[in-house]
Amino acid sequence: MDYPRITWIALSMSLAFTAQASDTPVHKALLIGVDGMQYQMLQTAIQQNMAPTIASLKLHKSYTGGVLGTSTEQPTVSGPGWTTILTGSWVDRHQVSANDEALRNQAPSLFKQFKLAFPDRKTASIVSWNVINAHFAEDITQGYIDLAVKCSGVDPCVVDNVSHELETGQPDLLFAHFDEPDITGHRLGFTPEYQQAIQTVDAQLGQILLALQRREKAHPEEDWLVIVLPDHGRHLPEGKDHGQQTLSEKTTFIAMNKTGNAHLRAPIVNPSNPDFKGLYGFASQADISPTVLAWLGVKPDLTRYTMDGLPLIGPVGVRQLTAQQLPDRAQVNLSWRTETPTGKPVQIYRDGQPIARLTDHEHSYVDNDIQALKGPINYTLVFNGVPVSRLVTLHEQTSTP
Ligand SMILES: [Zn+2]
Repeated sequence: MDYPRITWIALSMSLAFTAQASDTPVHKALLIGVDGMQYQMLQTAIQQNMAPTIASLKLHKSYTGGVLGTSTEQPTVSGPGWTTILTGSWVDRHQVSANDEALRNQAPSLFKQFKLAFPDRKTASIVSWNVINAHFAEDITQGYIDLAVKCSGVDPCVVDNVSHELETGQPDLLFAHFDEPDITGHRLGFTPEYQQAIQTVDAQLGQILLALQRREKAHPEEDWLVIVLPDHGRHLPEGKDHGQQTLSEKTTFIAMNKTGNAHLRAPIVNPSNPDFKGLYGFASQADISPTVLAWLGVKPDLTRYTMDGLPLIGPVGVRQLTAQQLPDRAQVNLSWRTETPTGKPVQIYRDGQPIARLTDHEHSYVDNDIQALKGPINYTLVFNGVPVSRLVTLHEQTSTP
């Protein structure tokens, strides 16, 4: 009676294969930038059925430009914006303070953190605005970006390269950038042509997502996170410019194919800083790199963690973290928010060294042991296994007059 036995082996083998494919999917990520696509105008386009691709994702409001009046404040322009998105940190760390292609990102990039964790996996950065790949030139020369393509303002070149990579390559982390909404915005402002540019880019995103669908059919073991987002909003009322700290320029969006955690879905209604109609209660651009790295399974190294954002999937870390040096320079005040306290630990690290262990009943801490320290201090708070950091640039102690 060999027949049933062979059938059983074949069946159990196929079960084992199926189980492996569904139990341990290979997580991959596709991050797509849409330069200068303003949130309100996108919503108008969605209402008019002109942006069905983005409408098919889960759309949430977010902010850029850092926090006005602090060391994270950065102009609402492309260089600082994309660098924040691709590093999880603000200008006080990445140092890309303007659209200057001579500037080089100084923070550990999304690509670098991923490649250090998984050297054999593949990354790509395919951009319409070439300056992005200039800001990350060191990542390219050091091999953290395996495939770097500059499309020189030709968005269809982005579609072609990304689709080709998805269908024939082995990408694990792919960043794509489209420029047309920003180009049309600068030329004509909020006009039917601007809405047309949103529609055109949305259709190009649709082409890329179709290529991704074909890939997923051929690679059922893969599970892709898809995020679409802009770098900045636009100045009202014309919509031609951007760069300043206004609500419309600071407001951005995050569109994702996965369901986000509370940090994305439940903005804080009474944020510590109530400016810009509560905009700081929403997720920010700094949350993108932590989200992608969490999805890709990169375990945070607490001794060198420096990202200002929180993952938008999985457990939620402390929110609304601020770190302020008091005027006498003798101490730094940390404050944060958590949900209903349950006694879970909150661990505090200073420059990678643990300095305190509290519980989530506490929402502030005073570090008065900083007199001997020189230069910036990096604080990291870990809650629910999720770290988040802030940089404090120490000012010299002011002498009493
Ligand atoms: Zn622009």
